[in-house]
Amino acid sequence: MSTPHLEVVNERVRLIVDDKPFLILGVQWDCDSCFSKEEMNPLFPEARRMGANVAALPLYWREVESNVGTYDFTMLEERLKQAREHDLRIVLLWFGTWKNACSFYAPDHVRDDHATFRYARDRDGNELVSFCPTSEVTWQADRDALVGVTRYLRDHDKQNTVILIQIENESGILGSSRCFCENCNRLFREGNYAEQFGPEADEALSVVSFATYIDRIASDVKAVKNIPCYTNVWPSQQVDRIPGTYPSGGGASQMLDLYYEQLNHLDFLAPDVYTDGVTDFGRVCSQYSVAGRPLYIAEHSSSKHGRAERNVFYALASPNAIGFDPWAIDSPYPDMYSEPLVDPIGHEWGRQAYWLRDSYVAIGRAISPIVMYQGTKSFFCFVQEPGEKGTSISGALTTLRIAYHDRDGMARGFIIETNPAEYLLIGSGFSVRFRKKGKDSAYPVKRADFGRFDGDEFHVLHQMRRERLEGEGLPVTLMEPGVIRVTLEISPDS
Ligand SMILES: [Zn+2]
Repeated sequence: MSTPHLEVVNERVRLIVDDKPFLILGVQWDCDSCFSKEEMNPLFPEARRMGANVAALPLYWREVESNVGTYDFTMLEERLKQAREHDLRIVLLWFGTWKNACSFYAPDHVRDDHATFRYARDRDGNELVSFCPTSEVTWQADRDALVGVTRYLRDHDKQNTVILIQIENESGILGSSRCFCENCNRLFREGNYAEQFGPEADEALSVVSFATYIDRIASDVKAVKNIPCYTNVWPSQQVDRIPGTYPSGGGASQMLDLYYEQLNHLDFLAPDVYTDGVTDFGRVCSQYSVAGRPLYIAEHSSSKHGRAERNVFYALASPNAIGFDPWAIDSPYPDMYSEPLVDPIGHEWGRQAYWLRDSYVAIGRAISPIVMYQGTKSFFCFVQEPGEKGTSISGALTTLRIAYHDRDGMARGFIIETNPAEYLLIGSGFSVRFRKKGKDSAYPVKRADFGRFDGDEFHVLHQMRRERLEGEGLPVTLMEPGVIRVTLEISPDS
């Protein structure tokens, strides 16, 4: 088996795990839920029941290196063990120098030693909450700890349970457009940032500094074990963008090209999305997936009004999409006072957990064809928005009339035309009629099988009952989440 990696086929990016195309259907644990077995472990079976194939698990620098220079991998071992027992892969989230641009998860001997580990400074010389991104001392300490983690993975994770490493979390500087320490001021002058970048000069220095810091860590991590590495982004506002109100240097959309120009080892940037509207969600997806860049939604709202169950379809319809990962299974955000996907005490599920499960179960049963057809003209995505009752799509010989029947008003699906007479219906809460193009009649359905894919192979779970065949053609209905393969009766003269 090859190590997990990204590959480009027909100009589209794929994530390959165990030599097969993979889509991350993830759930993330709350930021603080991985310190103890007692809080972390009960969530693994819940994630699996929810149809997830990946657990996105924070790994804390302060946990790994609570004593200077000695590394403790007890809980890392536990993460691997739990994931394997529950047939989940891991996206490992390294909370190192920066977590939401702050230093929360660095060891106390790093956080408290301001003389050795330099904090960023604002224009007036005051210390900020974020570490300076040009401190070689901080970089070395963070790098050594994460390289230690990667050595552990190289030696104890031959089966590649960890498929992706997130280096830092929403890095950048809060409270200032850049760091104004002596070293950063020197780099600003020597790099002619003011002349080169004008009003965006401060943010440009931040981008170059953070991208370089993270990319150099990625280089050393990948030299030990060549796993794909990325970092996640706290996106900027669309209007009134003031760097420092969002983390400056963190890979905001308007700085993406400059960020990517610095990268030689880090594979990609992944946005964290908590916007309400579907339009905003689509905008972020397209911003981060342009120029053949992989699209991974590293965080997404998991609350009841967060639309994760629907936005996962929009996201994965993007040609370069490799995965989707709501934050967090045991804590709702941004609706902080609503119910979480899974209650951490009683393990009751919020309503939205059933919706997400239905999406993940359906998508999880057809990963191979989804990856194969993503972004092609044979791949269709639809999601029921408020007020909508159905839609139509145009196949090679067929007009597909889709009617929505979802009990919660959120029918959603993918349809793949594998050839003019064969369709895959993936999703839940809809029916499809297969009309002859330009004629007032329908193609009879020869066969409809409810099943699932194991790699490229389709396994029939049951044949759909079809009591009669009418000239008009009965619709094929997919109420419960799953996959139906439909074969049409198309004769050469029809
Ligand atoms: Zn600095």
